[in-house]
Amino acid sequence: MTDDIFAQQLQALRTRALDRHLREIGSAQGPIVDLVGKRLINFSSNDYLGLANDPQLREAAIAAIAEFGVGAGASRLISGTQSPHLRLETALAKWKGTQAALSFSSGYAAAIGTLPALVAKNDVVLLDKLCHASLIDGARLSGAIMRIFPHNHLGKLESHLEWAQREHAGKRVLIVTESVFSMDGDLAPLRELLELKKRFGALLLLDEAHAIGVIGPNGRGVAAAEKLNEDVDVQMGTLSKALGVSGGYICGSRSLIDWLINRARSFIYSTAPPPALAAAAMAAVDFLASPDGEERRLLLRQRIKLMQELLPNRSPATANRFGKTVDHVSSAIFPWIVGAEQAAIDLARALQKEGFFVPAIRYPTVAKGSARLRITVTAAHTEEQIRSLCEAIARLTP
Ligand SMILES: *Cc1c(COP(=O)(O)O)cnc(C)c1O
Repeated sequence: MTDDIFAQQLQALRTRALDRHLREIGSAQGPIVDLVGKRLINFSSNDYLGLANDPQLREAAIAAIAEFGVGAGASRLISGTQSPHLRLETALAKWKGTQAALSFSSGYAAAIGTLPALVAKNDVVLLDKLCHASLIDGARLSGAIMRIFPHNHLGKLESHLEWAQREHAGKRVLIVTESVFSMDGDLAPLRELLELKKRFGALLLLDEAHAIGVIGPNGRGVAAAEKLNEDVDVQMGTLSKALGVSGGYICGSRSLIDWLINRARSFIYSTAPPPALAAAAMAAVDFLASPDGEERRLLLRQRIKLMQELLPNRSPATANRFGKTVDHVSSAIFPWIVGAEQAAIDLARALQKEGFFVPAIRYPTVAKGSARLRITVTAAHTEEQIRSLCEAIARLTP
């Protein structure tokens, strides 16, 4: 019986070209992956620096397994805090230039644990329309009053702030946005956001998931690149994209971090991440802050530049992407907007036949009718791989 219910629901998804399936990768992550026995050039991962299968990170994980085993055994506040967790957090705070840091089992866990610790019922949370699902879920879970402002729309944000000041005087107001948006690759106007935040006495949570490792000195993100680090109250990020491992983090003041240790439920009520992952993530942070890391980041910048030159611009946020922002703060994400769900799937399939792995991104990850290919370049791609992809896209696009 239940089978029928779900089968019907799935059929409804299928008719709208919105059904999703898992794909089995039979190899390590990298610029070439094995997809059901076929080698494909991979333009779909967030492994921007090629660290997911890096020898140094692998060695760090293996050494930590030898010393600490595979499981943390308990939650962080009970007995699961092992030396690698604390070493990682010290390294994160030093790298980001904040007083303290806290790691979570994922970026998603960081978001859904942190937002409800920052705002509660009767407080106000203002989110950019294109915020990641984890931020939206965290905001919902907090029970605070939620308002969404159109993507990067400072005027609307300002009127929400005025409204909050008027209607919810004395309550906490939290602005939530990303520095690099995950499906569009454009940037938030951070300086202007901070001016508004200060004027209205609000707090800012900035999710740098797709900026760290890619943008800023030592890959510290957009806030650091714009020398605005000090002004961002809550700096969020993930260890699972450019850092190549798994986990999320929050960086900020000592008191913020101590508060999260006491209040973030996804941190408190979940077993600590495996110590080997913390050790590998720490190796990634060390790498980013090293001359080799800087070199790898420059290589990534070259690849991004090549992609900008070769791929006609199909980004919805043209001004941000290629106009206003300067080269050193452009992201590694290239949306190729197709529109119709089925058309995006067809294009992805055609590319796969030619040896490229670039999945279609559809609703509800992006708005209905704005289906796209989400192309990501990494430092591990060769120039030749990038050229051949751009050529194939041009050829296959009517
Ligand atoms: C991927 C992502 C997250 C979640 O991080 P995970 O470590 O994958 O759970 C959060 N925010 C943004 C903007 C992301 O792109």
